[in-house]
Amino acid sequence: MSQPVPLTNEQLLQVLLTTKDATAIHYSEKAIIQYANDAMIAFWGKGRSVIGKTLEDALPELKGQPFIEMFRRVWNEGVTISGTDTPADLEVDNQLQTFYFDYEYRAIKNAEGQTYCILHTATDVTERYHSRLSARESEFREHKLMDELAASNKELAASNEELASMNEELTAINEEVRVSNEELTESRNHLQILNKRFAESEARFRMIVEQAPVAIGVLKGRQLTIDLVNEGILQIWGKKKEDIMDKPLSVALPELKGQPFLKILDDVYTSGKAFYGTEAKATIEHNGVLVDNYFNFVYHPLKYSSDGTTSIVVVANEVTEQVLYRQKIQEAEERLRLAVEGTDVGTWDLNLESRALVHSPRIAEIFGFPADAKLSHNDVLSRIHPEDKDLIRDEAFDEALETGVYYYEARIIWPDSSIHWIRSHGKTFTDEKGNRRMLGTITDITRQRQTLEELKSSEEHLRLATLAAELGTFDMDLVNGTLDWDDRCRLLFGISHNEAVSYEKDFLLGLHPDDREKIDNIIKDAFIKEIANGDYDVEYRTIGVEDKKLRWVRAKGKVLFNEKDEPVRFIGSVLDITDKKQDELRKNDFIGMVSHELKTPLTSLKGYVQMLNTRAKKQDDNFSAGALGKVETQINKMSVMINSFLNVSRLESGKIHLNKSDFNLNELIREIIDENVLINASHLIAFSPGTSIIIEGDRDKIGYVVNNFLSNAIKYSPKGRNIELRCETNDGYVLVSVKDEGIGIKAEDIEKLFERYYRVESKHTQHISGFGIGLYLSAEIINLHNGSIWAESEPGNGATFYFRLPLQ
Ligand code: ADP
Repeated sequence: MSQPVPLTNEQLLQVLLTTKDATAIHYSEKAIIQYANDAMIAFWGKGRSVIGKTLEDALPELKGQPFIEMFRRVWNEGVTISGTDTPADLEVDNQLQTFYFDYEYRAIKNAEGQTYCILHTATDVTERYHSRLSARESEFREHKLMDELAASNKELAASNEELASMNEELTAINEEVRVSNEELTESRNHLQILNKRFAESEARFRMIVEQAPVAIGVLKGRQLTIDLVNEGILQIWGKKKEDIMDKPLSVALPELKGQPFLKILDDVYTSGKAFYGTEAKATIEHNGVLVDNYFNFVYHPLKYSSDGTTSIVVVANEVTEQVLYRQKIQEAEERLRLAVEGTDVGTWDLNLESRALVHSPRIAEIFGFPADAKLSHNDVLSRIHPEDKDLIRDEAFDEALETGVYYYEARIIWPDSSIHWIRSHGKTFTDEKGNRRMLGTITDITRQRQTLEELKSSEEHLRLATLAAELGTFDMDLVNGTLDWDDRCRLLFGISHNEAVSYEKDFLLGLHPDDREKIDNIIKDAFIKEIANGDYDVEYRTIGVEDKKLRWVRAKGKVLFNEKDEPVRFIGSVLDITDKKQDELRKNDFIGMVSHELKTPLTSLKGYVQMLNTRAKKQDDNFSAGALGKVETQINKMSVMINSFLNVSRLESGKIHLNKSDFNLNELIREIIDENVLINASHLIAFSPGTSIIIEGDRDKIGYVVNNFLSNAIKYSPKGRNIELRCETNDGYVLVSVKDEGIGIKAEDIEKLFERYYRVESKHTQHISGFGIGLYLSAEIINLHNGSIWAESEPGNGATFYFRLPLQ
């Protein structure tokens, strides 16, 4: 073994370089790497090429990190800088990674104290750092857990406290419940007492209701079920108790539907407010009949609890009579108002003390002012005609003060100076304030006055006229049964007294016995509107009651009818026609005598003509036969004419009589046609008789009528025209008509055709001979047979004459 020898510097450095701690030596300000052991080279991760380079060049990633600056300070200031767990970012294996180091940069100084190198040692503590870090984290979590635990512990404590207090509350509540229970028991007892009282009061209520002098009913629940009624309400409702109890009102009184009451009751139920009705009209069925009555009533809601209405009490009071009475008064007032308005009456109200005048618009109009003018008492007085002023001021006023009634008729002067008549009517009275007042009306009576004047003068005219015409007048009031005759009328019945006369005693008994029945019937017919339309025109004979004188009277009158066509008045005039009548009778007698005297020679004339005719025919003297035939025709015509006159005179003196027998009318008509054709074949006469028609009557006289119709048709229509006769039965009558195509008759003539001696005056008729007695006689004959006769015609278009006779 060799002797131990100390290590050389190089050796020493080599040894030191093997230390596990990373070591490097730097010099200069820029920390040029002079030496670095393997450990340090490994940290840096760049291999041995770094030796001799400045730290910045060797490890460019250190830029921006504090280390290069630290080396500069150590070099310049000679200090030592160290750190633990210091992070450094190094690029190892081309990757920038963060490592943690414990390190020291120590300035190595020479004897003069000058730094000549920097000893750089470092230990990689990255692992230690991380493990310490995780240890700290877990410690932190633990702490947190502990904190939470502590907090929940606290909460627990708090809940515990709450629990405790709740327990206390529970105890308190329990106590309350106990107390309430006690109270409940108490109030139940109270309720029982109340219930009892209620039952008592309910019974009392029912009793009061039942015995109340007014009508009361109680309706329960919204259904308004009838719960309680008294006699009064049953009467109003017109129902029996057993029929309506416990039924809803709308079922018990179905007639209320459509009337307002059910709705009002429902509203009262809902609102809880009472309803008062006055003079309400209710239609309620009584014994099957709907009756309208008026009521004052109350619907009062009853509330037994705060929940609302439980029942409604109905109290009703019938006021129908008052209402109707008042309505009547209102109607009467209205009628009065209308009447006043309708009659153009003006009304006024005068305060006699203050002279204040209130008047209706009509008063202003009556005084000639516009309706809206307001007149003072003086305005009115100043309008009175000067001549009538005293009359109003003195006479009427004095009388008013005495009797309380004011009345005058006076003239007034209008603003346009025209004169009018007024009638004023008033009444004085003292009103409730002690004022003397006068109420009254004014009517414009100008028209009335004028009419009165006119009437007076026309009455005077009439009086003079009747006097001049010697007309008597009669006036029969058919309603009161009175008869009024003037002096002349009395004279015609041979009466000189002025006492009341009557239809039966004075009129009928005053008539000639032969005329009595006929005239009585005519008057009775006149009283039936549809028969004669009230027209009356007769001639009759009277035999004077006192002087026993026979007089002929022409009476003409008119019956007045009311709106129901009942006769109410019969007025007219009578005229003494005795002289005229006697003249006529004398004339008739004369005509009758002449006709009669003419008949005998004419009959013998006819006989000789017929004889001569027969002889001429035998001798074949045709000329003579023809001439004698014509003579016979003329004689026939003459004998018809003479017969007519004879008949007229007989008729006038009442000597015409019917020789009735049954005969065939168709046969008669055929005979008359044949006779006429024989005499005059100038017209085409058509007649197609059907079955034989047998009637009862005077064959000659009915024949006269048919002949008259036919000969007139021939006379009054041009030659060659048609004439058609018809004879038909219908409804118990036979109707005969003769229709021609002649000149016809004007309407105004038709009604007069049947009068004696009436002929139509016209250029057509002036050359046609006749006396106007044919139709007159025909009418009399048909009337004697109780038939009717008439004509229809259109001038220029022919005429049709008819007569109708009853069959049996
Ligand atoms: P008369 O023919 O003798 O004049 P009547 O009494 O027969 O008398 O007739 C009265 C009047 O009635 C006649 O004058 C005539 O004017 C008129 N009349 C009668 N029948 C007809 C007729 N068929 N057509 C037109 N007028 C007639």
